[in-house]
Amino acid sequence: MLEKRTADVIIIGGGIMGCSTAYRLAKEGLDVLVLEKKEIGNGGSCRNAGGVRQSARDPKELPLAMYAVANIWPTLSEELGVDVEYVQKGNIRLGLTEKDIGILEAHTAKSTKVGLDVKMISGDEAREICPYMSKEIIAASWCPTDGHANPLKATLGYYRKALEMGVTFITGVRVLALEKVAGRVCKVVTDDGVYEAPQILLCAGYESRAIANTVGVDVPVERQFNEVLVTEAMPKMFDIMLGVAGGEFYGHQSEHGSFVLGGNSGLQAFTSNNAGENFVTNPLTAPSISRGIMRYFPCLKDVKVVRTWSGWYDQCIDVLPVIDNVKEVPGLTVAFGFSGHGFGISPAVSLAIKELMTEGKSKTIDISQLTYDRFKTKS
Ligand SMILES: Cc1cc2nc3c(=O)[nH]c(=O)nc-3n(C[C@H](O)[C@H](O)[C@H](O)COP(=O)(O)OP(=O)(O)OC[C@H]3O[C@@H](n4cnc5c(N)ncnc54)[C@H](O)[C@@H]3O)c2cc1C
Repeated sequence: MLEKRTADVIIIGGGIMGCSTAYRLAKEGLDVLVLEKKEIGNGGSCRNAGGVRQSARDPKELPLAMYAVANIWPTLSEELGVDVEYVQKGNIRLGLTEKDIGILEAHTAKSTKVGLDVKMISGDEAREICPYMSKEIIAASWCPTDGHANPLKATLGYYRKALEMGVTFITGVRVLALEKVAGRVCKVVTDDGVYEAPQILLCAGYESRAIANTVGVDVPVERQFNEVLVTEAMPKMFDIMLGVAGGEFYGHQSEHGSFVLGGNSGLQAFTSNNAGENFVTNPLTAPSISRGIMRYFPCLKDVKVVRTWSGWYDQCIDVLPVIDNVKEVPGLTVAFGFSGHGFGISPAVSLAIKELMTEGKSKTIDISQLTYDRFKTKS
């Protein structure tokens, strides 16, 4: 059989954005080819902490989060034929100080303005929702429709479904550049030669910036190192998603009892592991996350940490993604810069991308504030 080199659409990056969009486009009858430099789910998509959260999001991306929670997550397991362990039992974001309350109130006010069901509650009300919390907690924000899911199962579920729909995945091929012919991008240059398609979706995490640069497009995205730890399995204590105003940690208790907790030490930019494509964890981070959790949940102090892992955020300067057709480069659609919170919105992002690529604009969900050209230079 001849090796596949052309398609209707080439997707660069086999993360949850690439896999879920491939699935949606194939359902529309398009011939889709995904190019992935390592293996499917190599990036943040299989390394994240599973938060499916609307609360504490910028109102500019809330339409994606609210659409995904209302319309896609509840039936995703059925749609993909795999249990993605979606649990919708709310997100509580905790505060210990007056400064924390200020942060929580500001988030809450912004979100309620655009119709999200989120409110401030007292420390005692928080302890009614979850009795294991420290007495030091003085307030919290509470969003009952938030939740969490299993990132591996969701990402690989989309991958399997895309395969079933006839999508071709080529792994171990690194995209180096894009090239235009007669003003339209159609060539994808890789370390394994050239692939061609009239439409190209660039969703390769932080590496998207360098690839976009090759056709004169720049988006202020840099990579940021983050980690997750997992504990031994404990008897079921709670189903909610946890966050804290100060950002020391976030996470949840998984289906089988382990706590999955993400965070960073605040010093990771200066550590030796923050180099190359290294996924080695840093000795400072797990203790930092653990000290954080012990302040809020002293009862977890003897729980053993069994594993840690790391991943890169594609951090955009305004902490929001770019999801758009690039006007100056016909044929190119971009979706990156998810800034550490793309998993929860991914099922809705792929719907928006599908509409961008097949109808020229996102009709179902308002992504008008997530354009690639929203950034202003100094002068
Ligand atoms: C530690 C951690 C915790 C997180 N926690 C949460 C959370 O709780 N909730 C939440 O909503 N989000 C969370 N996120 C963010 C979330 O994981 C991402 O926003 C989301 O997975 C982005 O998906 P993606 O498909 O755009 O990117 P990725 O999953 O990074 O996929 C990009 C793919 O492109 C490939 N690639 C890169 N360069 C090239 C190239 N040159 N050629 C070919 N392929 C290439 C990569 O190998 C990768 O597989 C977390 C992220 C991390 C790292």
